[in-house]
Amino acid sequence: MENGDSFPLMNSLPSRRHFLKASALAAAALPFIPKFSLAAAPKRKLGFALCGLGNLSTNQIAPALQETEYCKLAGIITGTPEKARRWQAQYNLPDHSVYSYDTMSKLADNPDIDVVYVVTPNGLHADHTIAAAKAGKHVLCEKPMEVSVEKCRQMIDACKTAGKQLAIGYRLHFEPNHQECIRLVREQVLGSLKFIEAGFGFAIGDPAQWRLKKELSGGGPMMDVGIYALQAMRYLSGEEPISVSALATTNDKVKFRDIEESLTWQMAFPSGVLANGNTTYGFSGINRFSANTDRGWLALNPAYGYHGISGSRSDGKTIRLADMNQFAAEMDDFAQCILGNRPTRVPGEEGLRDMKVISAIYESVRTGKVVNLT
Ligand code: NDP
Repeated sequence: MENGDSFPLMNSLPSRRHFLKASALAAAALPFIPKFSLAAAPKRKLGFALCGLGNLSTNQIAPALQETEYCKLAGIITGTPEKARRWQAQYNLPDHSVYSYDTMSKLADNPDIDVVYVVTPNGLHADHTIAAAKAGKHVLCEKPMEVSVEKCRQMIDACKTAGKQLAIGYRLHFEPNHQECIRLVREQVLGSLKFIEAGFGFAIGDPAQWRLKKELSGGGPMMDVGIYALQAMRYLSGEEPISVSALATTNDKVKFRDIEESLTWQMAFPSGVLANGNTTYGFSGINRFSANTDRGWLALNPAYGYHGISGSRSDGKTIRLADMNQFAAEMDDFAQCILGNRPTRVPGEEGLRDMKVISAIYESVRTGKVVNLT
């Protein structure tokens, strides 16, 4: 049963003994980024096609591709011909590497493209993932995986049928400060975990954007950024929640007519750990988590950005490992998984687990009742 599975991030972590043997990495203080275990992977660059050339592709992923060791930009899939022309010129892409959403089946004829990175609105992820898998490509799909549990299952099935890997763009699984917090909790350095509090929100702008339309977004800030707080709760505890309850409010009933504006939720884990989360599109300033133990605490604030993640501990130490390009690390790791024929730490099943919890959160908002997940 998926909810009862042990947490995949921890399954993919190297043992402490293995880590200590990797002296180069130990010196770099990046304990859970397992590059050293991949020395056997053949070194070649996989071709990535970016599907959806919006903000994230333009400002983060395409630049990050230039920093990778195992990946290169080999194609684009876009519905906007003007963007296609601009990207072709900027990245020196030949005509045969440019696709529209309607011509994705032709990817099958392009051996230069190994992976399609789906970066379209949430409610289109299944269509684009399934089209890429049918064309024989591996898929890296942005978070949230889709807008429903059923769609997530369809994506997993399509990639399995095609014999291709599916990973979800959970970049913080490759971020050293998050990995360090997981280690501190697992090794009970500051005590035994009892409570987690986590929140992420921001004041959303343009009222016409797809994030405010339920059909394309699947929901409000919970789907978009609350999912980071949910992820933190799950990877800090190393458990799957057994029950959730939630409340949502909307102040601006015009802008937020389709989705929630703010949402707060509670979860219980099998060990007795309790978690409290919140998320909003109404205002900025929430970007944090804290984990309280029976004799101390640790916290990251800011916790979820591309840069500058830092935090503190009850023993007076700081948590501040060096910034790195999370998107480059995520793509390099996926490429190495494909080249080395090993599973990703962020598979489709991980996106599905989040979607089950988010569905239960929305059910609790609708019914006003605690929803059991067992
Ligand atoms: P944008 O709106 O900036 O870009 C989405 C792109 O998708 C558009 O530019 C367009 O590209 C394409 N598209 C195809 N169909 C539609 C449609 N019907 N409506 C709107 N756009 C369409 O979104 P983002 O880049 O911010 O987000 C894309 C995905 O990435 C989302 O799933 C989001 O959750 C995720 N994301 C993840 C982040 C992370 O840190 N991991 C951060 C930000 C976003 P074209 O013109 O080329 O067709």
